[in-house]
This record gives sequence, structure tokens and C-alpha cells, in this order.
Amino acid sequence: MNIILLGPPGAGKGTQAHILVEKRGMIQLSTGDMLREAKDSGTEMGKRVAEVMARGDLVTDEIVIGLIREKIKGENGGGFIFDGFPRTLAQADALDDLLAETGQKLDAVIEMRVDDDALVSRITARSTCGSCGEVYNDITKPWPADGKCANCGSTDVKRRADDNEDSLRNRLMEYYKKTSPLIGYYHAKGKLRPVDGLGEIDQVAASIDEALG
Ligand code: AMP
Repeated sequence: MNIILLGPPGAGKGTQAHILVEKRGMIQLSTGDMLREAKDSGTEMGKRVAEVMARGDLVTDEIVIGLIREKIKGENGGGFIFDGFPRTLAQADALDDLLAETGQKLDAVIEMRVDDDALVSRITARSTCGSCGEVYNDITKPWPADGKCANCGSTDVKRRADDNEDSLRNRLMEYYKKTSPLIGYYHAKGKLRPVDGLGEIDQVAASIDEALG
């Protein structure tokens, strides 16, 4: 089963992707994680995207489609979870083509609905494990008191450079302008499964399970 997790920044896509990886053996393809990796390892592409990401703008379609093209050819385990991709109609078209070329199809698009106030408070409280990517929240799921990630034991707690209010405002604007049209696009294709993303992590996970059948 190949699925897309669609939703604004802070909707919980990364958190839910991790749960699906655990439960269903799916493979998470997060273009945000891939771009951050390129930036941290100082590749040419990473240097080019660093400023764009810090501002909260979208990276070019060409770059992210290239990243997904590489991954989609590889092992797909229990299926791919596209997390943070596609973010434009051009990317959605490219994904259709890439899946068709590799004899695969898209099964469902989970639209995670969360209101803007919740997004701001979630994102400004967010930290992640630098080793396994587990997502924490200062209020609802704080980094464990023993200083070690509950998932992998690493002590590498990270806060994203773009998780600040200015950048977030821009990321939200990019979402509404360029990404939200995908809701209509996938609705028209009969793939859209809206899910309330506001509840507790387990509740949202249960709603996603139900939506996937
Ligand atoms: P994320 O981790 O999904 O919130 O992405 C972090 C940042 O990476 C975004 O604000 C964009 O600058 C960039 N990015 C990630 N995925 C995409 C994409 N599919 N298209 C364009 N830019 C992206």
C-alpha cells in the first residue's frame, strides 16, 4: 500500500509516519528529512536549499522530484509513506508518473486536518531525536527526563532551525497557496481520506488505521 500524508506543517505527519513504519513495515519517504540530511552533510544541493528552507519557502520541484525518483526505485517493504511530498500540483503529477513507471499505484491520501492555532503551538514546542527522528513536544510528549530518546536511546535532541514563528508563518502561507490545491486534486481522484489530526497521537493513529481499512 502506497500512501501520502498530506497536511500543513505541524499536522503530525512525521509522528504518524513513524507509527505506520512500526506497525505496518512501511517505508517513510520524507523530502524534508532528505533535504535536512543534504544540508547537514554539506552537499552542493544541501548548500543551495539551506536558505530557502530557513525562510520557509518551498524548494524547487526539480530537486524534490529528483530525490523521490531515486528512492521509489528501491525496496518498498510494506509500501511507501510519502511524508511532505507532493507539495505542488507539478509534484503530484510527477509522482503519478513515477509510480506508473515502476508498476506501482497510489492507494490513499490521508489529509490531516488541524487548525492553525494548534499548529503554531505544536511547532514552537517541537523537538526531534537527531538519530531516529522520533518527534517530541515540550508539553504533550516531553523529551525523557533521563536525557535519552525513548525510541532509540540517543541523547541527540534537536530543534529545527525553521521551527520559529516567522518561518512558520511563511510555511503556512506556502501550504495554503501551493499545497492545499492537492486536496481537491486527490478528492477528484477518489483517493482523499480526511482525518481529524487534533486528537491524541493514538487517537489520530486509530483514525488513520480506520481510513486505510
Ligand atoms: P518538512 O520537514 O516537510 O516540514 O519540510 C521542511 C522544508 O523542506 C520545507 O519548509 C521546504 O522548504 C522543504 N521541503 C520539504 N519537502 C518539500 C517538497 N515536497 N517541495 C518543496 N519543498 C520541500
